[in-house]
Amino acid sequence: EHLRPEGAEAVTISIGNFKGGVSKTTTAVSLAQGLTLLGHKVLVIDTDPQGSMTTLFGILPDTEVDEQHTILPLTMGAETSIRYAIRPTYWDGIDLVSAAPVLFGAEFALPARQTKEPGFEFWRVLDLGIDDVRGEYDAIIIDTPPSLSYTTINAFIASNGIIMPLPPNALDFASASQFWSLFSDLTTSLLTERGLSKEFDFIHVLLSRVDGTDPASNVVRQWIGQTYAEKVLPVEIPKTAVIGVAAAEFGTVYDVSKYDGAARTLKRARDAYDNFVGQIEASIRAVWAK
Ligand code: ADP
Ligand code: MG
Repeated sequence: EHLRPEGAEAVTISIGNFKGGVSKTTTAVSLAQGLTLLGHKVLVIDTDPQGSMTTLFGILPDTEVDEQHTILPLTMGAETSIRYAIRPTYWDGIDLVSAAPVLFGAEFALPARQTKEPGFEFWRVLDLGIDDVRGEYDAIIIDTPPSLSYTTINAFIASNGIIMPLPPNALDFASASQFWSLFSDLTTSLLTERGLSKEFDFIHVLLSRVDGTDPASNVVRQWIGQTYAEKVLPVEIPKTAVIGVAAAEFGTVYDVSKYDGAARTLKRARDAYDNFVGQIEASIRAVWAK
């Protein structure tokens, strides 16, 4: 049975935070896998030239990804639909657009086209590029690099919603506020100045890598609650070795077959992700219901 209502399109979600190591990629892949376990079909797009998401799908960016598997030709204007870059993964229900270091080229191609091509909108390339396939998936999940790059902007503009993973520690909290101020400056200067606007259907903050034994995390959790209020999802992803071990084997908590032991911590991490995935599925349904 198809869960998406007749005529509804994929809900597109960017996972973003300009800081590295906050669990963006782990969140993106776990969310995609969790949604497939609820019966959804998902396209994941790796826009980070480091290709960590691509790696988590067992594909090595350095040797197994060429330009044609990335969004680079789209950003250079050689393609208008992202379809050329989509390939299946080992995971049932997930297709992938991969990334590799060659994708750094997009950071030169997009501004160059902006100065050369009249009417070109560098921030809408990905948005337009996925139009062709929106009808074929329930969700499109975009993993972004830890920077305010041209590709990151493209990912946000293409998205219905944003999820910002945020570990409750002081330095990550500080850089998160930079994320939001740069983000709003950006939409203001890019869009408002041109009489355009971008409304997100949802913006969620996900408490990630939560270390229950760190006394400082309670204080920072309070700051986060005060600052982001209802944006903060009522779930916490624990910091647990199980997730790191899974990643070392190119997997997530949904890939139980890939490692043994740690049954109790695994269950705790998995329950947290199930809870998170359920909340995002509700956000997706809310978009469909609009
Ligand atoms: P980002 O994409 O934001 O750079 P990653 O998802 O790559 O972050 O995570 C950074 C590192 O932290 C990876 O080695 C990953 O396996 C590990 N990690 C992520 N989430 C957790 C967690 N909840 N507990 C333990 N390790 C985690
Ligand atoms: Mg990453």
